Amino acid sequence: MDSASDIKILILDDDTFMLKLLTKMLAKLGYTAVITCDNGSDALKKLDQADTSPDLILLDLNMPDMDGIEFVRHLVERNYLGKLILVSGEDERMLRTAEKLVHAHKIPMLGYLHKPVDSGKLAEMLHHWEIDTLANPASASKKIYSADDIKAAINNRELVNYYQPKVAVATGEVIGVETLVRWLHPQDGLIAPDRFIHVAEKNHLIDDLTRLVLAQAVAQAGKWHREGQTLRVSVNVTMDNLASLDFQDEVFNLVSENNLPPQKIVIEITESQVMGPDARVPLEILTRLRLKRFHLSIDDFGTGHSSLAQLRDIPFNELKIDQGFVHRAWEDDTLRAIYDASLAMGKQLGMDIVAEGVEDRNDWELLHDTGCDMAQGNFISPPFPAEDFSRWLSEWKNRFEAGL
Ligand code: C2E
Ligand code: CA
Ligand code: CA
Repeated sequence: MDSASDIKILILDDDTFMLKLLTKMLAKLGYTAVITCDNGSDALKKLDQADTSPDLILLDLNMPDMDGIEFVRHLVERNYLGKLILVSGEDERMLRTAEKLVHAHKIPMLGYLHKPVDSGKLAEMLHHWEIDTLANPASASKKIYSADDIKAAINNRELVNYYQPKVAVATGEVIGVETLVRWLHPQDGLIAPDRFIHVAEKNHLIDDLTRLVLAQAVAQAGKWHREGQTLRVSVNVTMDNLASLDFQDEVFNLVSENNLPPQKIVIEITESQVMGPDARVPLEILTRLRLKRFHLSIDDFGTGHSSLAQLRDIPFNELKIDQGFVHRAWEDDTLRAIYDASLAMGKQLGMDIVAEGVEDRNDWELLHDTGCDMAQGNFISPPFPAEDFSRWLSEWKNRFEAGL
């Protein structure tokens, strides 16, 4: 890590006295690149600008307009790559629950601080963090790509599809794969989507990106079908892709060109994106895709807001329980409660349930014992390039037959 003064810190608290106090404490510790915000929307604006995007956020939980938990949800949507410290006057139990939620969202936390804030404790947290990053410089490097970089990557066909299997928990049968895009960067190597999808969304490049991913995925699905692997192939689609009515025609054309039954293509939509003030066009597109027999899947279930309304309004075939509520749900009551509720709700509505983020045998056993339909995660396999499919399949069959 560079020196303390290079680390960008954002403090979000509705109490201006707190903002001043924390700024002073940080300055004493050498952290001078500090921005303060007294409401969530301003903080999100800072986050979206490369020059003010923070490495660390000190977040107050109780705020009148957007509270800390809602703010965290926005961080997740933006694939925030920095760290977080929760600050609150709430009791220990509340803070711990909040910490669990943040963990479930995979946002790395340095810890939580009670108000009034103890400057010694803050210093200790920052000190540990610095030691960690010094020991692990790779985790500190997080180059942000510009819209132009991404545009060039799309034009130069540097985006490649990886695929992650989805298997039936009861029988081990391979139901399908999820398409996960990667950027094969000529200098930086394989880049994960959370480093560029958000930038693509912000800069009106997501339609081009999705078009490329979808075309490659449908072509690959056609190839698998011709080889006798009648896999369902899922593609991640954002709400912005559904803003124009051309989308459904494109999907439909691709599928007919490749001689595929539409029900073998699954459109995954992230739950928190399904809402939005004007949902008429997306709703129409989704309904028409469904009428054409495409499969619709609600992604990251459990992390969003108006889940119930969406489930009522959109005819989803599949519900994916967010990985944050799957891994370790067998040993954590809070996660388990959300996992159980999502599973029950999806079942009641007649949907196929996929649990994401199945990382180990314990996670798998929970799915098995609770009657979850499908599993996806590193325990089954991390995402791989299409050419690795047959090798993985025979390995998987052996593992399943041998009791995993
Ligand atoms: P997602 O749709 O929720 O995809 C699942 C993510 O979890 C993938 O990350 C996958 O590699 C990762 N994962 C799978 N198994 C495990 C596991 O056992 N443990 C853990 N911790 N993680 C696991 P990935 O590939 O980095 O993708 C991140 C997100 O980027 C995706 O989340 C999706 O929202 C988005 N994304 C990926 N490809 C596309 C795309 O083509 N278009 C759009 N719009 N978004 C995409
Ligand atoms: Ca997905
Ligand atoms: Ca997901």
